[in-house]
This record gives sequence, C-alpha cells and structure tokens, in this order.
Amino acid sequence: MTSTAARQTGDRQPQFLVAWSDGHGAARAASGFRRVFGQAPEGVWAAPGRVNLIGEHTDYNGGISLPIALPHRTYLAAAVAPDDTARFASAQAEADEVWQAALVDINPGSVTGWGTYAAGVTWALRQRGVAAPALTGYVDSCVPFGAGLSSSAALEAACVLPSQDLRAVAGPPLDRTLLVAACIAAENQIAGAPTGGMDQAAALQSAAGCALIVDTGLNSIELVPFDLAGAGLELLVIDSRAEHAHASGEYGARRRTCEQAAEVLGVPNLRQIRPDQLEAALDDLRKSKAFGSAEAAEVAVRRVRHVVTEIGRAEDFIAALQEGRMDALGPLFDASHASLRDDYEVSAPGLDLAARSARQAGALGARMTGGGFGGSAIALVQAGQARHVAEAVDQAFTAAGFGPPVFLLADAAGPAERII
Ligand code: ADP
Ligand code: MG
Repeated sequence: MTSTAARQTGDRQPQFLVAWSDGHGAARAASGFRRVFGQAPEGVWAAPGRVNLIGEHTDYNGGISLPIALPHRTYLAAAVAPDDTARFASAQAEADEVWQAALVDINPGSVTGWGTYAAGVTWALRQRGVAAPALTGYVDSCVPFGAGLSSSAALEAACVLPSQDLRAVAGPPLDRTLLVAACIAAENQIAGAPTGGMDQAAALQSAAGCALIVDTGLNSIELVPFDLAGAGLELLVIDSRAEHAHASGEYGARRRTCEQAAEVLGVPNLRQIRPDQLEAALDDLRKSKAFGSAEAAEVAVRRVRHVVTEIGRAEDFIAALQEGRMDALGPLFDASHASLRDDYEVSAPGLDLAARSARQAGALGARMTGGGFGGSAIALVQAGQARHVAEAVDQAFTAAGFGPPVFLLADAAGPAERII
C-alpha cells in the first residue's frame, strides 16, 4: 500500500526508530571506513544520544537537569592520521565526501561544517595538554539529527575516546570530566554552538539503568536509579520532525532575561531563589524599572517562574525516584510542559500536540524535552502501551496536517565506550 493510501484509510503504522546493536553499528562504521579510506580502522567507538527527563532551561541558571543516555548511538571507526590532518566521512553527511583540516589550521572561527564537532575535540584536548593525535574517521549513527536528542554530543564523545585511546604514549584513561570539558569546548568554540554541559555529560558519564543528575550550580554529576521496566513503565520519545525555527536567537534572549533578572534580584543565578521565596522575588521584578516597561517586567516574571518551579520539579522528580514513588513522575512531566509552554514560551504546535495526544491516549504524563521550538517530546506510559500511544499521536499529527513523527523507545543506556 502506498503511504497516501495508508493515510487515507488511517491505517498507517507509526514509524519506530529501533536502536542498532553495537555489533551492527560497529560493522557499518568499519565497512564505511574501509570503503572511504582503503584500510582497516584501529578500532570502533560508540557514544549515545540523550533525552532529558526533566529540568529544562535550568542549566544556565545554576540548576538541575536529569538526562538519560539513549540506546541509540553514534559509531566511529578511527585510526591515527599519518600527517596531523583530521579527515572524517559520515554516512549521514554527503556520501563518502571527506571533511578535512590540518590540525594547525583549526582554531575558533577558522573551520566550518559538521567535521568541526569531530576535529574540535582533538583541538580541545591539545588545549588541555593532552597529546591527542589527529584522526581519520568514519561515522555512522542511528541518533536522529537536530531532534533535541543530542547527536552533536554523541559525535563529540565518539571522537574524544579514540583521541584518548590512540595517544602515541599510552597512559591511563583520562578523567571523564576532562573529556566532557573538551567536548563542550569543541562544540562552543570550534563548532560555534552555545550549549551547556548536559549533553556531553550524558554521553560520557551516564550509566545503564540510571539517570544522571547534572547539577550546574554545585558543578556535580550524580547517578540516580531509573528502572523503568522494574516499575512496569516505558518511556516513549516522539521526534516531532519540526525544525528548530529561531531556536538560537530565542535561546540567547531567554538566557539574557534570566541573567538580568538575577541581577535585579541580587543573586548570582536563579538557583538561589528557592520555591518558597518565589512570590516575593516576582514582586520585586514587577517593581523593578530595569526591564524598561511593565510588559517586559511581566515577561521576566514568567521566565523566572518557569526556572524556579522547574528546578523544584527536578528536585521532586529525583526524590520520587529515590523513594520509589513512580506515580509522582507523570504529573511532574505535565506541569513541566505547561510551564515551558506558557511561562517560558519555548514549545511549538507539534510538541503541544504530541504531549496532549499522548496523554489523551493514556500516557501517565508527557512533556516537550530539549531546548524547544521543535525537536522531541517524551511520554511516560504503562509497559506495553507505547505502540498504542504512538498510533494515537501519529493519527493526531495526520489529522492536524503535520508530517509523520518518529518514535523511539528509551531505556536508560550506558555511556560512550570502545566497541572493537
Ligand atoms: P542535536 O544535537 O539536537 O541532534 P545539533 O544541531 O546540536 O542537534 O547537532 C546536529 C549537528 O551535528 C548536525 O547538523 C551535524 O553537523 C552534526 N552531526 C551530528 N551527528 C552527525 C553524524 N552522524 N554525521 C555528521 N554530522 C553529524
Ligand atoms: Mg546538539
């Protein structure tokens, strides 16, 4: 049946993106490497995408986020380059076209293209005194691009491990905190994309069966058990396939408002405002002349209310996980979505529809995840219900005239590692 006919009869099947096995991913990357570079790789490394459970737009406010690593991974087959020139090809970029740059030529602002994420980590490690070799590499991945599932950090993490493992003078593994810092520097300074550090920490410091508590205020990383199967639950990821329109300009605007509000309130960041101090803080913002108009002050009020309540929800979520109160999770998802939609204004029609239609189909809670303006939503569902919920969301998208979403089932998976 053609897809048009399926659409008309309403029996289109939701499209699930199943994670590759490590054997499959490694074989794909290694065979691409042989085809493009005419030799065998020295090894294959893999790093996961991630999805954030809760704590959105909190990282630049000294707050908490709670990502899990996905079973969906980016694979890199790699070898040491003969001439200190980074060369990368990717099954997801122009077919077999090689991105290349001599390491001496890589500096902030000097290179462009997807290879900046890959070669940027070598640059960043060298900046930190690590004698990382330039790499020849072939990338293949089942992490969707630009879906808020952090394909960029997966790529960086898949490249930072061989940079460490293939050092000329072998040494003990480097501290993963250093590797995370190198990946963040590569993305911020060489790829030129402003991000916090949640994505890179999830790719490199997560653990199977756990969520990662990324606390940017305390500058700490901790694990908390996140055993969905044990609780009879599943996490459905809904990639709305909507473009992140205006995402970077709006991101900058949200950040500036938060910084300005913190200044008005006399605190280093909004983490310092505890939930029981919120109303008083909002009154101070309303009275302040710093925003230029009453309307602008009211916008700041909404932004601050999101940040403070969202940090509170992340804390409540963690406490619920620690105490095994899994029934508390769904309502926190719902409240987070409403806050992101109404107060922070970073949702999008496709994300609202995904969350609403998932809930109507029986999801225990649903929210947009990631920076917003497109990307993905997540729904917490009873075990065995994911397909039913996906069908309902898929139909709602068709009825609204949106293109078909893509679904992923997310278990809390393990961190970046060497496969071969
Ligand atoms: P997200 O991290 O949410 O997927 P980003 O915009 O941060 O979205 O990163 C996506 C970019 O990362 C792509 O446009 C591309 O430049 C790069 N990238 C990620 N994965 C790959 C890959 N497998 N092959 C080539 N480039 C990739
Ligand atoms: Mg990214």
